[in-house]
Amino acid sequence: MSLADVLDRAAAGGRISLDEGVRLYREAPLHDLGAAAHARRMAMYPTSDVTYVVDTTINYTNVCNVHCTFCAFFRPEHHGEGYTMSHDKVLERVRFAADQGATQIMIQGGVNPELRIEWFEDLFRRVAAEYPKVDIHSLSVSEIAGLAKIEELPVREVLVRLKTAGMKSLPGAGAEILVERVRKRISARKIVPDGWIGVMREAQLLGMPTTATMMFGSIETDEERVAHMQVIRDLQDETHGFTAFIPWYYVPYKTPLRGREASGLEYLRVLAVSRLFLDNVPHLQASWLTPGLKLGQLALFYGCDDMGGTIIEEQVVHDAGSTNEATRAQVEEIICGAGFQPVIRDTYWNLRSDLALATA
Ligand code: SF4
Repeated sequence: MSLADVLDRAAAGGRISLDEGVRLYREAPLHDLGAAAHARRMAMYPTSDVTYVVDTTINYTNVCNVHCTFCAFFRPEHHGEGYTMSHDKVLERVRFAADQGATQIMIQGGVNPELRIEWFEDLFRRVAAEYPKVDIHSLSVSEIAGLAKIEELPVREVLVRLKTAGMKSLPGAGAEILVERVRKRISARKIVPDGWIGVMREAQLLGMPTTATMMFGSIETDEERVAHMQVIRDLQDETHGFTAFIPWYYVPYKTPLRGREASGLEYLRVLAVSRLFLDNVPHLQASWLTPGLKLGQLALFYGCDDMGGTIIEEQVVHDAGSTNEATRAQVEEIICGAGFQPVIRDTYWNLRSDLALATA
């Protein structure tokens, strides 16, 4: 089958194989690839709306026993630069975000073996009680798996307890590339790909919305990038629990792994193939934090229908060398500048027309 035929089938919502995905990634002319992904996005959402969520990331601890080689944020246990925020400090950050209109908070950090499940339950109960309009879209598969290990509890029980305490949704962080060869090389202590999928499946079966991420640009091959998408697509066929896919690229500058930063063209190709390959995942998010807002704007023509969060404060990617930041107004201006209409959404992808745009 010709490349044009594969592109046409994918743009029309037809399923493509792993081999076809790799072929598109490697061989399709960039503009044709983008046009097909954009056509798919417009067929799924025939509107000029581009959503974003007002949120913040609170990195509550940098102590971590997983020691990923691509991470410049963590400090090993007992390191002098390790920190853990008090609950009061986290609440202060939530208040700061809520005052700026945040509807979602991402409380994420390292896998700190000193923190027991009660620490999270108490924190989430306080956040939920004091800020009932802010959704706790927090932790990661690594932190959930770490808690299950420390507490010697099944993953499901950890999730049920956290959900009862107020956690609404599980972000897709910590997937990197869900291929065992890659995990062994860049995060050997991290949960294996089947384990990541298992935690996500449990969360989805409990009715929690989840997202799926992909950190590319470390040591993986083109085939492994598409193989990662295949793992996500297979689980989505089973559960339909992912709301969005969020590819972002690795920032190497201050990490032990080092390497080179992915190019803008690689980023756009990954986005477009993601939109075409993941025919069952509703939303594709432009994660502008590493490529920056300008490339994030271009992403809106490569299959993305969502600009992600405003990320009022974030430490993990910044510690690796990223300097990108944006205000709500800047995110909206970027969307308008591309000819689209910014619309605020919440964690569940409800459109929140009751919330005023920053540029209104
Ligand atoms: S990426 Fe997450 S799990 Fe890995 S070392 Fe950094 S904080 Fe720990």
